[in-house]
Amino acid sequence: MGQGRSIFPRRAVVKGGPAARTPGVRGGVARRGSRAPEVRASDDVSRAVWERVESTPLVDTHEHLIEEESRVSGEHEQVSANDWSFLVAYYLDSDLRTCGMPAEDHEAFLSPATDPIRKWELLEPYWPRIQHTGYAQAVEIAARRLYGVEGLSRETIRRVQDGYRQGIRPGFYKEVLGEVALIESCQVNSLEVPFSESPQPTLLMQDISILGMHMGPDVEAYATRPGIEVRDLADWHRVIDWWFETYGPYAVAVKTQAAYSRDIDFDEVPPEDVEGVFKRVLDKDPVDPDDEKRLQDHLFWYCTRKATDHDLPVKLHSGYYAGDNSTPTHRLYGTVDAASALCRRAPDTRFVYMHINYPFYEDLIAVAKHCTNCYVDMCWAWILSPVAANRFLMQYLVTAPANKVLTFGGDYVPVEPVVGHAALARRGIGVALAQLVDEGWLDLEAALELVDPIMRGNARALFGLERKTERLKTAPWL
Ligand SMILES: [Zn+2]
Repeated sequence: MGQGRSIFPRRAVVKGGPAARTPGVRGGVARRGSRAPEVRASDDVSRAVWERVESTPLVDTHEHLIEEESRVSGEHEQVSANDWSFLVAYYLDSDLRTCGMPAEDHEAFLSPATDPIRKWELLEPYWPRIQHTGYAQAVEIAARRLYGVEGLSRETIRRVQDGYRQGIRPGFYKEVLGEVALIESCQVNSLEVPFSESPQPTLLMQDISILGMHMGPDVEAYATRPGIEVRDLADWHRVIDWWFETYGPYAVAVKTQAAYSRDIDFDEVPPEDVEGVFKRVLDKDPVDPDDEKRLQDHLFWYCTRKATDHDLPVKLHSGYYAGDNSTPTHRLYGTVDAASALCRRAPDTRFVYMHINYPFYEDLIAVAKHCTNCYVDMCWAWILSPVAANRFLMQYLVTAPANKVLTFGGDYVPVEPVVGHAALARRGIGVALAQLVDEGWLDLEAALELVDPIMRGNARALFGLERKTERLKTAPWL
């Protein structure tokens, strides 16, 4: 793993360089052909903060990375096309649709049947409309840092494609994440299996996905491995128990994105109230929506209590939905109410609300300030809305306890754009801290002392990463 010469430029080339070399400009300069600037810092405060942020490793608390071997083979259903368009597929595909790209061009752009170089012609008319977004900036920064290419354009696209192809080889995850992005560990929420037995488990730590345990439920995905025949709710409880007993010691957290299909207002429902509903679901008989909600509620709390028994925090999607032209926006308005109710109902459970509940991040800061067991994760936020993420962090740090904020999660399926996202996060963290000092809310020493906890210390403590790392070194599947 990682043997031989790295093909990616070493991080040392980037580290400390911009601040030291380019005085006189504050906040960022776009390089020619690219809308994705590197940070510049002019004054002593910015420089001191920037150097600290640049040299501090991140714990990446949320990814959907597929295993490296699937990328190397190119055979995976989530790899739409194994060319540079795969970097754009997450999440720029949505911005392309919402900026006006016709469906047939969109399909051709993502298709493995289209020539990779011709794909630029499809993208070119729409690129100026979206090039300034966090999604696009992350891709351009990744192309610069991994392939030495300045901006996506007609002139550069062949080099981007060559860099993409040459970059994929055994060991490249460790290089991209560890050496280029300076990430010490990731937390992966697999979208294929409830828990992925990663061959590099201390780099790609895992959440247990409880989504299919309490939504659906997904009997096939969860009951096959333990080999339990599910005939009633008690059997299903045994299936859930098996996943926690088997993987609880090795997982860092549990994760549910139920918020994509319902409110997170989970009520306590005793098992005897939903045994009949569970049987109807198993038999595929029609189920009343209220009954369906009660079953999901019961199972959510069953999983949450199991997670708490196993010392695992519960991560919940909150806020904005990925995708386009589909979100029932009204659902986002009730999230903070429900989030605070969950915290009050289970004071021993640590709830992690992801994506800062964008765009309602101020409301979530209030919950984190008020509830001991509310944690806020900035995963996805720096690319979703870089300036909102910056404002969130400034407000959070002078409002709520600093030990309960997690400042980075790439939230990607492909590993390469994590580099760009991590760079945007470092920029945002640096700018937020320097601005708090500039405006007199913090002194420089206090700002510098916050860097390590918010970038990795809080995550290490919340998820018990030292203990998990030791355990994962001898994981039974290795
Ligand atoms: Zn995610």
